[in-house]
Amino acid sequence: MSNSDVLQRFLFEHAPVRGVSVRLEATWQAVLARHDYPPPVRQLLGELIAAVALLSATLKFEGRLVAQLQGHGPVTLLVVEATSARTLRAIAHWNAEPEDYDLPALLGDGRLVITVEPENGGERYQGIVELAGDSVAETMSNYLMQSEQLGTHVWLAADEKQAAGLLIQKLPGDEVVADADLYNRVVHLTETVSPPELLGLSAESLIKRLYHEEDVRLFESEPVCFRCTCSRGRVADMLRSLGSDEVHAILLEQDQVEVACEFCNQKYRFDAVDVEQLFATDMSPGTPGTFH
Ligand SMILES: [Zn+2]
Repeated sequence: MSNSDVLQRFLFEHAPVRGVSVRLEATWQAVLARHDYPPPVRQLLGELIAAVALLSATLKFEGRLVAQLQGHGPVTLLVVEATSARTLRAIAHWNAEPEDYDLPALLGDGRLVITVEPENGGERYQGIVELAGDSVAETMSNYLMQSEQLGTHVWLAADEKQAAGLLIQKLPGDEVVADADLYNRVVHLTETVSPPELLGLSAESLIKRLYHEEDVRLFESEPVCFRCTCSRGRVADMLRSLGSDEVHAILLEQDQVEVACEFCNQKYRFDAVDVEQLFATDMSPGTPGTFH
């Protein structure tokens, strides 16, 4: 597996402050290979994919985490999904060619919606914040501060090759700490990081460069990769939710029902026989209200 795509968690030894760094290259290239994005949209999506990778590392969950940046400007929707298996997928929708990278202008009065969907029937959680400041980093920091009530700062960078980010978070705990000022100092030190450093340095080099006077413990680095979670089964569920009449109407018009996954461009085709089976399985036990 490529070692260019790595999530690195770390901890400061003398105070409850933790960090996460992420760099994505092959993952980001896999996203960009599937759609041709105008540079400002690409920039926005790169920052969001790095931010979501960081966010997924701060949460204890098994399942999927979906971040949507919804807007009313030239960019209408960005979706990034992360799984607890450290996979990512991402897509952006826009309806006018934006010229500059300017978050408020790109999204209008946008908002960030975060949904956590646990794997094994746990409770789904959703959090929403308005856009903050003029960057994805500020919006994500704001979200984390509101949802976790913990001091959090996020730094992000993206270009056509890579997406990267760094997160610093104060951990809960009211025990007397040896170095109470460490969080502020670490944030201050991290403010000096430049986008080329975020994009160009390995996690280890970056941490050394920023915090060489601090005691930092690195956890084992974790590989991250692009993977789409679409499947024929999930498309079938989606078609079932549209209802028999709707799907049969499409079938009449087009001979077959074709659904393309917008994240990975995979096409799923259902012919007349498939469609019959789709709705015949409504008879399966455990599906309430479908016996006629
Ligand atoms: Zn897919």
